[in-house]
Amino acid sequence: MRLLVCHTCWSWVAPQAGNCPECLHPLDPHVPDPPLERLQQTFGDYLLRLSEVRWERVQTPNRGTLLSTTQGLMFLPFLVTNPDGSCMALQDESRWSVWRFWHGQHRARFPVLPQAADAPFDVVQQFLDSPGALFLPRRHIVRFHTRARQWSFVRALGGVVRMAPLSPQEEWQPAWRQLMAQQAEWQTLITL
Ligand SMILES: [Zn+2]
Repeated sequence: MRLLVCHTCWSWVAPQAGNCPECLHPLDPHVPDPPLERLQQTFGDYLLRLSEVRWERVQTPNRGTLLSTTQGLMFLPFLVTNPDGSCMALQDESRWSVWRFWHGQHRARFPVLPQAADAPFDVVQQFLDSPGALFLPRRHIVRFHTRARQWSFVRALGGVVRMAPLSPQEEWQPAWRQLMAQQAEWQTLITL
């Protein structure tokens, strides 16, 4: 499977008939990723870790960390890279699946997430190094539902993203509240 970064909805996707399967925009594998400075502006700076999550999907790595930046949310899958360039993704509690995919000019590595918001953390590089990652710009999130331990993000571009928090509620609830305290625009979307 060849995964590319869609520069419209910021999903790592396998192109289908030359289009992003999420937002349906044309996806040309020969178009390089935008310059790092533009990605930095788009993604913003790392703020805090929200929760370990399981993304309800089967096509690409679905278990990882959801974190917040100054511009939105980012999902980073748990991955390790094999010497032959293939990746292994953590799918369930202890089961690792091999994903033989390529991801352009970037080489994946295991994302090591800081626990403290003030720790240096390069969200751009982590995103580019993590096939299966997703960035949800805050301005793309139309609605946010929480129900039966499932978070649903309705996007202006792309399908609904459903994630189940795997961290204890005592961890993710204060994290969301901290995010709402730091960025007031989240308060109109989230009820916890
Ligand atoms: Zn897209």
